[in-house]
Amino acid sequence: MNQDEIFLREAIQLAREGMNSNQGGPFGCVIVRDGKVIGKGCNRVTSTNDPTAHAEVVAIRDACQNLGTFQLDGCTLYASCEPCPMCLGAIYWARPSRIVYAAAHDDAAKAGFDDSFIYQELEKKHEERHIPMHQLLRDEAGQVFREWVALEKRIPY
Ligand SMILES: [Zn+2]
Repeated sequence: MNQDEIFLREAIQLAREGMNSNQGGPFGCVIVRDGKVIGKGCNRVTSTNDPTAHAEVVAIRDACQNLGTFQLDGCTLYASCEPCPMCLGAIYWARPSRIVYAAAHDDAAKAGFDDSFIYQELEKKHEERHIPMHQLLRDEAGQVFREWVALEKRIPY
């Protein structure tokens, strides 16, 4: 059996265990480097009152804590389901090398987890979105960026 299938089955099993132990929705994630699991997690939205506690985010936090880093270079992320836009963003910030997933987002939608509206929102103008966005104080906030660029002790990422 190939390695991708082994780790992906582990992510699927985490999804099942998390669901059955009432941690949250049926989603699991495993992060692997050099053939070893270095982080894992299941969805914990309802048990921790954290709408961002998706399996991928939980696993990224676990992996980064374990490795003592904020980047996951050379890692493969295994997700029981295709990542939602939030998780995809988190994955891009964490910068693993690969993503392997099992269920498609259509499968999740059929079970009541529909993230397609977020993709649709991204294509709309700010003021036409379901949650309207308003911009104020651009110059005042921009000053902080100028301070960041000038900061000698900054850690770029
Ligand atoms: Zn997600």
